Amino acid sequence: MTKVLYPGSFDPLHNGHLDIIEVAARHFDEVVVASVRNPQKTGGLFDLDDRQAMIVESVAHLPNVTVTSFASLTVDLAKELGCDFIVKGLRVVADFESELMMARMNHAVSGIDTLFIPAGASNSFLASNLLREIARFGGDVTEMVPPPVAKRLLEKYGS
Ligand code: ADP
Repeated sequence: MTKVLYPGSFDPLHNGHLDIIEVAARHFDEVVVASVRNPQKTGGLFDLDDRQAMIVESVAHLPNVTVTSFASLTVDLAKELGCDFIVKGLRVVADFESELMMARMNHAVSGIDTLFIPAGASNSFLASNLLREIARFGGDVTEMVPPPVAKRLLEKYGS
């Protein structure tokens, strides 16, 4: 049985993330989606409880996916949960550079390998920071996020 960890800030979860989760759920027995408790990224939008709730609702159709959060090293969480691999999505070359370094560092400190899944062709321009910016100014991102996220953005910004 192969279990993988998909970590991220997911602020908020968007269709690109969901696509990666669905691909992972097809190929691995168990997928754990873990949102980082205190993202380093500035300009956060949703608190952890909201981010978690949106992920739980958005993956309800995937029986082998569970959702958790963490405030530790990703590799420590992967070990604690008994995950065989870390899974990350790759959009563009910039992702590759940072993710490759992170993957090598994670392997160096723990021996855990990272597997990369390419972003779906129609999702490769999706990034949570861009969606946050558009939503804050009242732009419509409904088509780019799962319905539970669209609902919360509507409640927050009326967009
Ligand atoms: P973002 O980069 O959108 O702020 P996260 O930090 O939560 O999102 O990213 C978590 C993981 O999801 C990373 O591995 C990132 O490369 C991947 N990811 C982000 N956006 C996409 C996308 N549009 N398609 C595929 N993978 C993505």
